[in-house]
Amino acid sequence: MGKQPVIQTCPDCHGPLKWVETEKQARFKGVEVRYAAGLYRCADCGLEVADVEATADLQERLADAYRQAEGLLSGAEIRRLRERKGLTQQALAEALNVGIASIKRWETGVIQSRSMDTLLRTLLLDSPCNDHTGKRDFSIPRIRLVLDAFEKHLGRPLLKKDDRMLYAAKYLWYADMAAFRDLGRGLTGATYAALPMGPQLNNYRDLVDEIAKADPSSVPPLTASESAIIAAVAKTFPTNKKIYEASHREKVWQQCTTGAIIPYSRAAELTEIALIELSDQK
Ligand SMILES: [Zn+2]
Repeated sequence: MGKQPVIQTCPDCHGPLKWVETEKQARFKGVEVRYAAGLYRCADCGLEVADVEATADLQERLADAYRQAEGLLSGAEIRRLRERKGLTQQALAEALNVGIASIKRWETGVIQSRSMDTLLRTLLLDSPCNDHTGKRDFSIPRIRLVLDAFEKHLGRPLLKKDDRMLYAAKYLWYADMAAFRDLGRGLTGATYAALPMGPQLNNYRDLVDEIAKADPSSVPPLTASESAIIAAVAKTFPTNKKIYEASHREKVWQQCTTGAIIPYSRAAELTEIALIELSDQK
């Protein structure tokens, strides 16, 4: 490659610098990684030099090699998946409840946490038929919005510190499933797994802190129909015990193998929540 180095000659022996593409091995965050590196090498003494641009590029490649080794999305993958979804960096930031600067950094080499990687996959890699997200884009602030509405109706907190979402997730599940059944799409875009303790928000361990700090005013308010769904679910299941037991009577949950995703398409088979009367349905 005929790259013109910013540094023209070897800082050591003043020999000529040549651009080389080479494979490097490095230990990064405790992981041995190999990556393709572009840098300048002195033709006389072999010293390897990188200018500012090459250094930034090396850091990005090293970070991506680490992400690949650790099974995390690379910067380019995050960008490609985001664009495929038609999301701007701002829209993705809002859905994940992070600053736009975080998105920009992840796309250019700063390594996202494991839990953020899980959330990115949840948001960007939904199934093509949308059956796992209820025809809605996953949104953490929306989850918070729905939980806040439930707390108002129930007159008690649902999400506590270090919550395992044993009950909060069941209120969300019924609301999402009933909304999908009666309104044609869910409320939060969340995916639910059939766990032994009942339907549970998929990846709830990674989500709970994010939900707790999410700002529900950052998303559009609930429509009258959506509010009616939440009111009906709260009225049907006034106590944690009631919703827990009801969810365990649902065939939809019983028939899923442990850990399987419960498809929204089975919402019509719910037996414990009656069809909800909606005044403003179009
Ligand atoms: Zn040299």
